[in-house]
Amino acid sequence: MARAAHPLETGAWIVWNVETKQFRLAPVRVLSQGTGSLKYERPELFAGELRVIDCHSHGTHPAFFSSTDDEDDRHETKFAFVVGNCASSVPSMAMRLCAKGIFEDVERVPSSWYAAAKLTEAA
Ligand SMILES: [Zn+2]
Repeated sequence: MARAAHPLETGAWIVWNVETKQFRLAPVRVLSQGTGSLKYERPELFAGELRVIDCHSHGTHPAFFSSTDDEDDRHETKFAFVVGNCASSVPSMAMRLCAKGIFEDVERVPSSWYAAAKLTEAA
């Protein structure tokens, strides 16, 4: 999704369904998107779904948490995930736990996530 939207930003939530025990990617409804901004409406969730990770992309910019991200995240309790350098074969990634204004960086995004995002050459 992030690669397809590049160089514009986009976003989605990873949600967990307590009934079906399944994860789902729920894209946000984009109101406006730019190369350094994203305005969106929260995705509609089905009964039994909980937001686990709030994801957004940074287009050509690297993954990091901007002052805008800090402002957006300071009243929420969630994991926040950013993917950047979206045209790169291996995009950059950053994640943190947000707990009502306390931000705790996740030191290392799982290597399997980089492997999953790696651009594979067409055969
Ligand atoms: Zn951001």
